[in-house]
Amino acid sequence: MSIKVEGVTKLYGDQKALDNVSFEVKKGEVLGFLGPNGAGKSTMMKIISCFIPPSSGKVTVNGADIESDSMTVRKSVGYLPESNPLYYDMYVKEYLHFVCGLYGITKDADKRVEEMIRKTGLGREQHKQILQLSKGYKQRVGIAQALIHDPAILILDEPTSGLDPNQLQDIRALIKELGKDKTVMFSSHIMQEVEAVSDRVIIIDKGKLVTDRKVGVAENELEQCVIVEFDSEINEQLFSSLDGMLSFKNTVGTNYMITASSTEDFRKSVAKWARENDLLVLSLKHQDESLEEVFRKHTS
Ligand code: ADP
Ligand code: MG
Repeated sequence: MSIKVEGVTKLYGDQKALDNVSFEVKKGEVLGFLGPNGAGKSTMMKIISCFIPPSSGKVTVNGADIESDSMTVRKSVGYLPESNPLYYDMYVKEYLHFVCGLYGITKDADKRVEEMIRKTGLGREQHKQILQLSKGYKQRVGIAQALIHDPAILILDEPTSGLDPNQLQDIRALIKELGKDKTVMFSSHIMQEVEAVSDRVIIIDKGKLVTDRKVGVAENELEQCVIVEFDSEINEQLFSSLDGMLSFKNTVGTNYMITASSTEDFRKSVAKWARENDLLVLSLKHQDESLEEVFRKHTS
């Protein structure tokens, strides 16, 4: 099961919440969706889960279009919304049975509910009313409802926000565990968390995708960041022909910050590419940086 997002733009009135965003999530991947508040994370997740339509662009889930084939998409996607809306006066088991009903699961409902309770570690809390649960356990109920129809893809919007450090650890471990047999996309504004849990991270800011990179890249492949200064402004479309580039940003004047994943010194690639494109390089240097630094630099 894969997700393919192509040139998605979302307008709320005249505000652009998403601006021509494209990326792919491959089967079995855990993708961290990182960005400051208001970046457009929830908007993107609502679109993929068929809750709101995009203004333009296309999203397919394993080939099924979210607009023309939304029933197929809904069957394969489980979604935990940011606010985790639950019926607080319901009991845990009662609520999960209710969600089974929404999905038309009748025959094996008891078995399904039991399985979800086991999977999300709700065993000791299963007979409680939802309002009696701690925030961490409410979050587990939210994850259990997202999983109930056994979707191949899980979309979790800020699943760890507002949790204490122990609960945080538990939910992160659960996401990792679920990622073993599901494709998971989860949003967060905590860099360390994304780095610890995901295979790949996408950073968005003000509706634009700024970085798409692997976490824990292969040993011989290095994540690199190169700062290059040209003698004049350049046509940014040229960057697409730079092999290995992950993202670029015009930092100041004619300076550009380029992130890349490459087995060799990426300065060589930039120098060669500049020569081929008749660009004059005034300076070229490496910048070592962590994901945290990338985040701070790419977002504001
Ligand atoms: P994030 O989840 O990254 O914090 P959101 O997707 O919630 O970002 O919001 C992106 C932008 O779109 C914000 O500026 C937000 O105010 C705006 N926005 C989100 N939902 C709506 C809506 N229903 N109507 C108008 N503006 C909205
Ligand atoms: Mg949000």
